[in-house]
Amino acid sequence: PAGAGGLVVDKLVVKYGGHTAVNQISLTAPPRGLIGLIGPNGAGKTTTFNACTGLLRPTGGRVSFFGDEITDEAPHQRAQRGIGRTFQRMELFDSLSVRENVALGREGGMAGSRPLRHLRSSRSDAAKVREAAESALAQCGIEALADRRPADLSTGQRRLVELARCIAGGFRIMLLDEPSSGLDKAETVVFGQILRSLIADRGVGILLVEHDMALVMSVCDYLYVMDFGQPIFDGTPAEVRESEIVRAAYLGSE
Ligand code: ATP
Repeated sequence: PAGAGGLVVDKLVVKYGGHTAVNQISLTAPPRGLIGLIGPNGAGKTTTFNACTGLLRPTGGRVSFFGDEITDEAPHQRAQRGIGRTFQRMELFDSLSVRENVALGREGGMAGSRPLRHLRSSRSDAAKVREAAESALAQCGIEALADRRPADLSTGQRRLVELARCIAGGFRIMLLDEPSSGLDKAETVVFGQILRSLIADRGVGILLVEHDMALVMSVCDYLYVMDFGQPIFDGTPAEVRESEIVRAAYLGSE
């Protein structure tokens, strides 16, 4: 619900040259819960994410986080406030173990795929980083993979490593961009269960961009639907499923 805090996007507009990729999008990711942002290919979902995390500056509208306007803040400032994200295209470091990849989420926070800063940790910091990494690995059920290299894992396992890295960051709101891409049906179901347990256990907010409708419908509390950069519908998964406007948008995109 609007005004409830968390991440609030208000009448966001993003133009690439003369092309309006996002036009008057408003949405709220509350402090706790799972919100879906869906729409056909090219609808503007990733662009909306980029404006939320500071990878691009919007042409119009505002982004706020727990009441503070952050529209013009840099990505690292937003990460420090507690906005984390994963990317459509995974960027894990194959030179590091799974545990080290996950720990990076805590050590410096990530701006895109890049660690923001390498803190020369004191001993107690190092212990905290290790603890955060172990706890995130456990949350994703991948403790057994901790010493492996990402390159040796399946896509499904790599997706979980990426999620664990974001969890280790201790963010208040996590933006996940097509996190189930490349997963099979069974892996997608497990992934959905992990997302729900994450909210139950840690009380975080998640904003999810996802093409897998079965996943979106089963895990999200509320959905925003966009098409050609425009907001076309928002409601509960049941309401979205019944919406003629949404159906038409997806049929039109096939
Ligand atoms: P998908 O589901 O396919 O990932 P999306 O909903 O995330 O799509 P965006 O990637 O945000 O959509 O793209 C929205 C529109 O903006 C598209 O028309 C796209 O071609 C255009 N676009 C995206 N990035 C750029 C860019 N850097 N420069 C110019 N146009 C862009």
